[in-house]
Amino acid sequence: MTTFLSDHDAVATDVLSPRLRVVRDDNAIDLDAAACAVSDLLVALGHDPVSEHLADTPRRVAFAYAELLTPRSFDLTTFPNDEGYDELVLARNIPFQSLCQHHLFPFHGVAHVGYIPADRILGLSKLARVVELFARGLQVQERLTQQVADWLDEHLAPKGVGVVLEAEHLCMSLRGVKAQGSRTVTSAVHGLLRDDGRSRQEFFALTGISR
Ligand code: ZN
Repeated sequence: MTTFLSDHDAVATDVLSPRLRVVRDDNAIDLDAAACAVSDLLVALGHDPVSEHLADTPRRVAFAYAELLTPRSFDLTTFPNDEGYDELVLARNIPFQSLCQHHLFPFHGVAHVGYIPADRILGLSKLARVVELFARGLQVQERLTQQVADWLDEHLAPKGVGVVLEAEHLCMSLRGVKAQGSRTVTSAVHGLLRDDGRSRQEFFALTGISR
């Protein structure tokens, strides 16, 4: 029996050291077992998995799910905030893909991730990597949003952090209510971006979200 469950635990050491290798060690994906399960699913859905057209489908599906459930490892390189920069740093429109844990359908959209630096700053591309770290797994959008914010809080210790996710859920647009084009917006704000009115307003204005 194959399970796609993962608990999103990121293994990281040396908090706030300049280089932090970030890997997720919860991947116990058995590709052969997954392919067998897809084959069984095809049978259960009334299709013949050994027909010429479907012969390679179980393997392809297994690989596709494995890819969507496996974030790439990366080095979280941080730098001293020598200039004492204390304004908002915001990466907007970071594309992401994730898998809805209720339907195993993708949901995808963009993330806006910002922080107000304290002692250290980080390479902007790393914000996208942190989003991917948590997006590549079975998720609900609310938890994904919170996990990205919590992780940055914990590993960068900024004065404030804010995350906004806008996503289309295929389980909503292709089936059920068929709400095509509808996007779900979630946010998580910590520190100054939560408590300081001006910073909070600036953050949500720059992400294009009014609240
Ligand atoms: Zn769903």
